[in-house]
Amino acid sequence: MSYFRVNNNCNGCLSCVENCPASALSHEDQDNQRTLRHNMTKCARCGQCWRVCPQDAIEFQHLLVGQWDDVVTMDLIRCRVCGEPLYSPDYQQKVFDTARLDSEPLCALHRQRQAASKWPRTL
Ligand code: SF4
Ligand code: SF4
Repeated sequence: MSYFRVNNNCNGCLSCVENCPASALSHEDQDNQRTLRHNMTKCARCGQCWRVCPQDAIEFQHLLVGQWDDVVTMDLIRCRVCGEPLYSPDYQQKVFDTARLDSEPLCALHRQRQAASKWPRTL
């Protein structure tokens, strides 16, 4: 998961907050504590905070790799004939219930061929 990280080297100088062009960093001083805040929706991923930090406290590079995060994984049903990926079991059930199709997993091409094979032959 990509998110903004500040490690324990931070000394609270606020250089990152003051130099963020997108106002994506802020801080709050309460009682005897200083808290840095980062807002990912405002962050332009420009790296300015990382460049100005005197402590190498901002771990920014992971925000630049544009990685994809897995959010869900499910079973996959493939065409019985050619193995083309088709749909998840839940989606299959929904489609077949709605369209009143039989539940044989076939891609469009092989469903068409199967339908054609059932037509009576003419001479
Ligand atoms: S990457 Fe740029 S926009 Fe994001 S917090 Fe750092 S300075 Fe602000
Ligand atoms: S510039 Fe670096 S050391 Fe200073 S407050 Fe920001 S993260 Fe901490």
